[in-house]
Amino acid sequence: MIRNCKFCGNQFHNFGKSKFCCLTCRILGQCDLDASGCLLWSGATRGGKYGVITVDGKARDAHRVAWAEFIGRVPLGMYVCHSCDVPRCCNPNHLFVGTPQDNTDDALRKGRHGMTGKKHSLDTRRVLADRLRANPAMNNPPEKRKQQSEMMKARWRDDPQWKYRGA
Ligand SMILES: [Zn+2]
Ligand SMILES: [Zn+2]
Repeated sequence: MIRNCKFCGNQFHNFGKSKFCCLTCRILGQCDLDASGCLLWSGATRGGKYGVITVDGKARDAHRVAWAEFIGRVPLGMYVCHSCDVPRCCNPNHLFVGTPQDNTDDALRKGRHGMTGKKHSLDTRRVLADRLRANPAMNNPPEKRKQQSEMMKARWRDDPQWKYRGA
């Protein structure tokens, strides 16, 4: 079936129920530009804050997908942070890539980090670590875990399209 993209108007072959011809149109077509230039995601959200978009059958953070779509791949383990401090915003000009530490620093500076508790004592941390070790998911032998992480890395390296890792 041939449809007109709801955002750009181009005709496209539609095999599913999508109203948009491509991911770019899916993102832009579901955002509203506000007075401060933020592109506010109008679709589903996570906790009413971060936009959620389904790509390849997986729910992803809309702002991370926007970064990947308009700027480039999000480096493994990195965060896409908001300079405008609006979680729903998908304007690539308002986004920057930072380390998890940057993200925490940024959040702390802006006073919206949930974790304001004191650091756990060493004893408590040991107990927590033991609890983690007791988790069945952690019980894969080290070789297996290594193998899994190598597989992930190879996939990342070999497939430039596979850019939503961790989004
Ligand atoms: Zn389109
Ligand atoms: Zn913004």
